[in-house]
Amino acid sequence: RSNAEKFEFQAEVSRLMDIIINSLYSNKDIFLRELISNASDALDKIRFLSLTDKEILGEGDNAKLDIEIKLNKEKKIISIRDRGIGMTKEDLIKNLGTIAKSGTSAFVEKMQTSGDLNLIGQFGVGFYSVYLVADYVEVISKHNEDKQYVWESKADGAFAISEDTWNEPLGRGTEIRLHLREEAGEYLEESKLKELVKRYSEFINFPIYLWATKEVDVEVPADEDESNDEEETSESSSEEEKEDEEKEEDEEGDKKRKTKKVKETTSEWELLNDVKAIWLRNPKEVTDEEYTKFYHSLAKDLSDEKPLAWSHFTAEGDVEFKAVLFVPPKAPHDLYESYYNANKSNLKLYVRRVFISDEFDELLPKVLVDSDTLPLNVSREMLQQHSSLKTIKKKLIRKALDMIRRIAEEDPDETNDKNKKDIEESGDNDEKKGQYTKFWNEFGKSIKLGIIEDATNRNRLAKLLRFESTKSGGKLTSLDQYISRMKKGQKDIFYITGTTKEQLEKSPFLERLTKKNYEVIYFTDPVDEYLMQYLMDYEEYKFQNVSKEGLKLGKDSKDKELKESFKELTKWWKGALAC
Ligand code: ADP
Ligand code: MG
Repeated sequence: RSNAEKFEFQAEVSRLMDIIINSLYSNKDIFLRELISNASDALDKIRFLSLTDKEILGEGDNAKLDIEIKLNKEKKIISIRDRGIGMTKEDLIKNLGTIAKSGTSAFVEKMQTSGDLNLIGQFGVGFYSVYLVADYVEVISKHNEDKQYVWESKADGAFAISEDTWNEPLGRGTEIRLHLREEAGEYLEESKLKELVKRYSEFINFPIYLWATKEVDVEVPADEDESNDEEETSESSSEEEKEDEEKEEDEEGDKKRKTKKVKETTSEWELLNDVKAIWLRNPKEVTDEEYTKFYHSLAKDLSDEKPLAWSHFTAEGDVEFKAVLFVPPKAPHDLYESYYNANKSNLKLYVRRVFISDEFDELLPKVLVDSDTLPLNVSREMLQQHSSLKTIKKKLIRKALDMIRRIAEEDPDETNDKNKKDIEESGDNDEKKGQYTKFWNEFGKSIKLGIIEDATNRNRLAKLLRFESTKSGGKLTSLDQYISRMKKGQKDIFYITGTTKEQLEKSPFLERLTKKNYEVIYFTDPVDEYLMQYLMDYEEYKFQNVSKEGLKLGKDSKDKELKESFKELTKWWKGALAC
């Protein structure tokens, strides 16, 4: 094309594309989910802007906020079109190739070790999954503030952008055309696409349509020439139907010439998803499978792994809202990055079904909130300051903690006698077995950071702590269990910090306590030492670092004697350990 401008992909993006193209990853289905999710994001953006500026949506078809999929079997093209915000020329250059997202290299690295493409969307590079199935891709886009452009690439290290002078005007939005590879022919089957949308994009909040062929019966005047062969074949109806037809013909026979029914194929838009938001439904009527699917679409996770827990509730009072909270089966790859960067979170906030923001500086599990009492026509920044949001936050944290506590209570591996009975009675504990350990391994650090930062919930969070100790036998144990094993008259919870359990086991400070049958907690996470500056006590017990000067082990005179006799040795050890 004469007006095409050429660009090179940023190096890291180019590497990513190479990996995708050469990938042996068998599940190529994910491209559709990624494209639909991008279309949905773009629609969310325009809908949000339209809250303060109604004009922005335009009129007629332009105002239709939907996603449309079309297949062209002859040319082997799938096209996915949205009337979302669209991209300017500048956007196309930046978003699709020249600026690598922060997750790009992390994902490239991960791909080289695991080869599992499933989580591509979580790394912010989902678009490139199109090259799993296509060898040539066109992105046609029209943003309100620019002309219509075409971005195109054969994934050969370069892409081109041209002002679009040949396609039909889009009005606004984006159309992505995938020229399918030879071996990706299955995606030209309508049934395949329907199945994929059902499976992965069911909970998209905008209608998804497929331009689908449909067989319809049409009545046409019967030919004079009754011996026509074609007619014989099209007349595949059963005996009964034939009788009906005859009756009809009898009734209308006088008025009209004879007619006959024939099958004809036409095409029409077929709606593929149910756009009723899951959080608006009655929790009793939503199945586990639906929650799991909804979680997968929210989290851009295509695995079969169930979330560890969820909580779906309606909050009433000054601020009313509905929320669905999930504990993911795995911590997001950038959980602590986003935590420290404080500009990305797992919370999606809707006000009256309109997506408002996912930019919150809170550390929460995957959450979706929809509120009717928050104002719609304010900026995101103002909304973040809104007092109602504080109430929402408070309630969400409470609910999240309850949900996490429940994982522990229902886990038969958690040796807590109080719950044992309930679990045994409820029977179905296989699924819950080991879930808390799983949670702890993925999110334990978040609980500790919570203890450090959230004074109000410190005690609730401390209940969720797990650690190894001199008496835990290599397993995880809790503070409550520690307390239940305490010696008579013990006033303190003893702990020791270091880098590994093995190193701590050799500590002379430890020996002094274990000899007397005191249990000592091993704190080996770098954050633990910091944690203990905030967690001074639990229930009525104080925390004591056993390697600190002047440790008292209760009123034990023998203890004093020991201390006296080992004075020199202790001194020596302290010196030795200090250097
Ligand atoms: P992510 O969606 O996580 O940002 P992607 O690789 O899927 O990452 O998409 C990259 C960017 O391209 C998006 O952030 C968005 O800015 C832009 N984009 C992709 N598809 C569309 C679309 N249909 N409409 C508007 N912008 C889009
Ligand atoms: Mg995306």
